Amino acid sequence: MSKTKLHLWSIVIVFIILILCVFTMTTLPELWFKNHLNENWNISEKTKSKKQQNRLCLIIALDGVPYEIIKELYAEGYFKGFYPPGRLVSTFPSLTRPAFSKMLIGGKPFGFGRLHFNSQLNRMEGFRLSQKLFSTKKEHKDYNPKLHFLGFPGYIAYVFPDKFTQTALSTFHKRLLAFTGDTFIAYIGLSDPIAHVEGKEALIEFLKKISIMLDTIRNDLGILLDVVLFSDHANNLITNQRVKLGSVLEKHGYNDVEMLVKAKDFVLPRNGFVSFASLYTNSNNAQPIAEILSTIQGIDLAIFKSGDSIMVRGPNGFARISKKNKRYRYTPIDGDPLKLKNIIDDLKHSGEIDNQGFIQDNIWWEATKNHVYPDPLRRIWESMNDLVQHPGTILVSFMNGYAFGPPIFSQTILGSRAGTHGALLGAHSNGVYMTDFMKVAAFNRPDTLVEILAKSKDAKRKGKKLFPFMQ
Ligand SMILES: [Zn+2]
Repeated sequence: MSKTKLHLWSIVIVFIILILCVFTMTTLPELWFKNHLNENWNISEKTKSKKQQNRLCLIIALDGVPYEIIKELYAEGYFKGFYPPGRLVSTFPSLTRPAFSKMLIGGKPFGFGRLHFNSQLNRMEGFRLSQKLFSTKKEHKDYNPKLHFLGFPGYIAYVFPDKFTQTALSTFHKRLLAFTGDTFIAYIGLSDPIAHVEGKEALIEFLKKISIMLDTIRNDLGILLDVVLFSDHANNLITNQRVKLGSVLEKHGYNDVEMLVKAKDFVLPRNGFVSFASLYTNSNNAQPIAEILSTIQGIDLAIFKSGDSIMVRGPNGFARISKKNKRYRYTPIDGDPLKLKNIIDDLKHSGEIDNQGFIQDNIWWEATKNHVYPDPLRRIWESMNDLVQHPGTILVSFMNGYAFGPPIFSQTILGSRAGTHGALLGAHSNGVYMTDFMKVAAFNRPDTLVEILAKSKDAKRKGKKLFPFMQ
């Protein structure tokens, strides 16, 4: 064979390989997702008798959608028929597992993310990304949402978020039309990868599709539809720089390990690329490590337990949080890391502080719900005490524009990403809450969702209307 012919053949082969690659990257994930959507479809729902209901309550849980975006779309005329949206302040950390557990599912997940450290068994637990890359189930041993629709194509969605939109939305539409019960709870996870990977414009386009789909569903169903729409947390929708934690601590003589043996060992699970990290170590290391963390660019707060109190260390100072019954006290030791001094002065003037310095939980809520750190004392207290089974020794909240995760996010392609969440900040925490049958408050705590679902169940049990306050 001549040299030119050989050259021609190699070009053809390279071309064929390229076409195959493009096909694999673009078409296969969607084909695979179409085939696997049925895994999440409850069999009993498929075979239920076709009893015709005249009213359906649809609860849509949208992962990672900020209040601000829905507010903008609402002002433009989307989400017609809804009352104006309110903020739903997430848990701290503003991450899916603790937030959904608090808002909808109940129970305590093992940890804040897919990986956590079990100090009793002295080992890292959870699952590796590769294990769940193609799993369409959002069910784990500790976290088992009984949802009618998931539409979450596994972690592969974080590689090709757009690929799955049409398949997910049309399947959701079909299933809702076929549904014969009276409360349909839908978890739509795709909004989170879209916000993380593609950013604001893509998220807006996705939400417009949801709004249009809701209009169509109202027409197609031909029965009364009551819709509750909420999200578990926000997303800052800006590019974020990866902060190096492990290597900085190693420079200070600490050891980044998977099992605690020596006095200066620490375990640092690398979950997704989020503005939160949880570090596990001997409690004696908590304060010295928090001191080091507070000097790292991008770290906003390092939080750890000390006796009955929780300490907060950041570049702006050091403070103690205490709790007595349903009252919280914030004691600045140096500076004002949570920026609460002015609020405390105001509350002092209005006589809300008791002689030990404690202030009632609901007074704190009213005074801080619109703060740069919304509802900080209760959220920080819960994060350490009753949100998950293995919270960690030091919880780290990042400044806006900074995040932590596996080292792969230091690369230029993945590193900048389009947005993240996890921090205590309002920009990461303020999700949305709206309904089309009742006005909602401008600011809401996660309990709001639990209460509304309890009311609905109670009404159902008594044979009353699903929501007694419905029009
Ligand atoms: Zn989420």
